[in-house]
Amino acid sequence: MTTTKPLDHEVILIGAGVCGIYQLLRLVELGVDVTVLETGDGPGGTWYWNRYPGCRFDSESWTYGYSFSRELLDEWHWTEHFAPQYETLRYLEHVVEKFDLRKYMQFGQKVERCVWDEEDRSWTVEIAGGRTLRCRFLLTAIGLLSAPTLPAIEGRDDFAGPSFHTFYWPKEGVDLAGKRVAVIGTGATGVQVIGKIAPEVASLTVFQRRPNWCAPLNNAPIDTDEMAKIRARYDEIFAKCAETPGAFIHGPIDKKFWESTPEERRAIWEELYKGPGFGIWLGQFREVLMDEEANAEMSAFVAEKIRERVHDPEVAEKLIPKDHGFGVQRVPMETNYYEAYNQENVRLVDLSETPIERITETGIETSDESFEFDVIVFATGFDAITGAFDRIEFVGTDGQTLKEKWADDALIYLGIQSHGFPNLLVVSGPTAGSASTNFPRAIESIVDWMTPFIAHLREQGITRVEANSDAEREWAEHIKELYQMLLLRNAKSWFTGYNENVEGRQKKRHLIYNGGAPNYRARLGEVAAEGYAGFEMS
Ligand code: NAP
Repeated sequence: MTTTKPLDHEVILIGAGVCGIYQLLRLVELGVDVTVLETGDGPGGTWYWNRYPGCRFDSESWTYGYSFSRELLDEWHWTEHFAPQYETLRYLEHVVEKFDLRKYMQFGQKVERCVWDEEDRSWTVEIAGGRTLRCRFLLTAIGLLSAPTLPAIEGRDDFAGPSFHTFYWPKEGVDLAGKRVAVIGTGATGVQVIGKIAPEVASLTVFQRRPNWCAPLNNAPIDTDEMAKIRARYDEIFAKCAETPGAFIHGPIDKKFWESTPEERRAIWEELYKGPGFGIWLGQFREVLMDEEANAEMSAFVAEKIRERVHDPEVAEKLIPKDHGFGVQRVPMETNYYEAYNQENVRLVDLSETPIERITETGIETSDESFEFDVIVFATGFDAITGAFDRIEFVGTDGQTLKEKWADDALIYLGIQSHGFPNLLVVSGPTAGSASTNFPRAIESIVDWMTPFIAHLREQGITRVEANSDAEREWAEHIKELYQMLLLRNAKSWFTGYNENVEGRQKKRHLIYNGGAPNYRARLGEVAAEGYAGFEMS
C-alpha cells in the first residue's frame, strides 16, 4: 500500500534533547528526510529547561558526553568532574552546530496531537497554533523527566511574588540575594537548589514531606592536564561504562557482602563516601540494593554521617529517612546540603508534623504557622517517564489513545513500540534501557539499534511496522520480574511511577528496565539478529 496523501517528511522526530540530537544525526547520515519538532526555543532538552541554581550532572561529565565522534571527544574540555547545567547546554549546542543539525530542527513547536491514518500508513502531527505535518514514521525523544508537576495546594496561584517549578526557572535568572525563599521538595533537584542558595539568601525555609538519603557529590575542577589524561582514557572509560548495569563508571564490586566483616564493609563505605558521585550508591556491594538486612546496615552508616554533619540532633533526625533504605529511591548527590541546615538563616519544616494548609498572597501557612516569603520554589518533581507521552494525544488504531492504553501501566515492547500504534517508534521511554541509567550511554545503544532498524524498513519497502501484542505482553512480564530482584520495587517515587500530584498515579507501576544496560543491549541485538522478532512488518 502506498501513501496517497503527500508526506511532509519521511520521519518526524519529537524532541531536540540529548536523545533527539543523536537520533537526528544518525538519520541524516542515513539520508532520511527528517525534521525535529521541539517545544523549546533551542536544543538541549533537560539541560535547556532546568536552569535552577546548583543544577549539574551527577554522573561524571566525561562519561556523559557522546562517544560517537573522536574529534568531538578530543576538542571538548569539561571544566568540572560534574559539569554545571550551562556547560552541558553549551556542549549540546556545540554538537548541534558542529554537525550542522540546526537546519533540521524547528523550535517553539509544541506537538499536541498525533493521529494514525491506517489507510495512508502515516501519522498526522498537530502542532499548537494549528499547523499539521504528515510523516511515515514518527519517533519520540521527549524525555523521561520533562513533564513537571506542581502540588495541588490550596491557593497555589495566589502568591503575589515570583513562584515557579524548578524546570521553568526563568531564563533571565532570579536574584535571590537578600530574599526570603521557600523551597518545597527535597528530591535530587531540591537538594541541589538548597545547597547552592543557602549562603546567599536572607532566609531559606525548606518544606520537606519525606527525606531522601543523600550523599556527597565530591565535585572537583578539571584542568588542561587532567583533561588530556581523560581524553587518553576515553576508550577505557566507555568500555567500563558498557559493562556496568547503570552504564555509569561505577559498578558493583565483586566482594560479597556476607563474606566480608562489618569492619571491612565500613572501610569500603568510608572511602566511597569521600569519593565522587554515584560510587557510594552503585559502586559497592550488590546486596545493599537487593537484601533488606544488608541495606539496613548501609543505611545505618549513612544515618551516622548525617548525624555527624548536622549539628542540631532534632533536625538531623528529621533528615534521616525512616520509610525506605539507602539507594531504594534515587540518591540525590549533594554539595553543602546537610551543612546548609547548620546555618542560622536555614530552617527545616517537617510536613509530616505540620502539613501545608494553603499558599497565600504573601507566603505559606502550615497547620501551626504562617510564613512570609519573597519567592517560592517548587522542586516537586515530574510525572515521570509516561507524563510527557500523556501530554501529547497519540491516537492509534481504532481511535485508541496511548494515554488510555497506559492508564494502569506502560505496555511497550522493548520500550520501543506499543501495539496499536504502528510506525510510532519510541527512542527513549518506559521500560527501555535508558530509564535510570547514565542517559547518553543508554540512548546511544538504542539509537544505534533504531537507525539500522529504520534502514531495514526503508530497504525492504516496509510502510507499516507494529509490535506484536504477544511480544509486548512477554516483555511486560519480564519487566515485572526484574522489579522483584531489587529493593527499589518498594520505592514510593518516580522509579515506580508514583506521584501524589497526578491523578491516578498513586499506585506503583513498572516503568524501568532493571536488568542492566548490558542485558538490554544484548536483547536488542538478539531481536535484530532474528530479523526484528516481535515486530510485524508489511
Ligand atoms: P523528585 O525526586 O520526585 O522529588 C520531588 C520532591 O518534591 C520530593 O521530595 C517530594 O516529596 C516533594 N513533593 C512533591 N509533591 C509535594 C507536595 N505536594 N508537598 C510537599 N512536597 C512535595 O523530583 P526531582 O527532585 O526533580 O528529581 C527527579 C529526578 O530528576 C531525579 O531523581 C533525577 O533522576 C533527576 N535529576 C537529576 C539531576 C542530575 O543528574 N544532576 C538533578 C536533579 C534531578 P515526597 O518524597 O514525599 O514525594
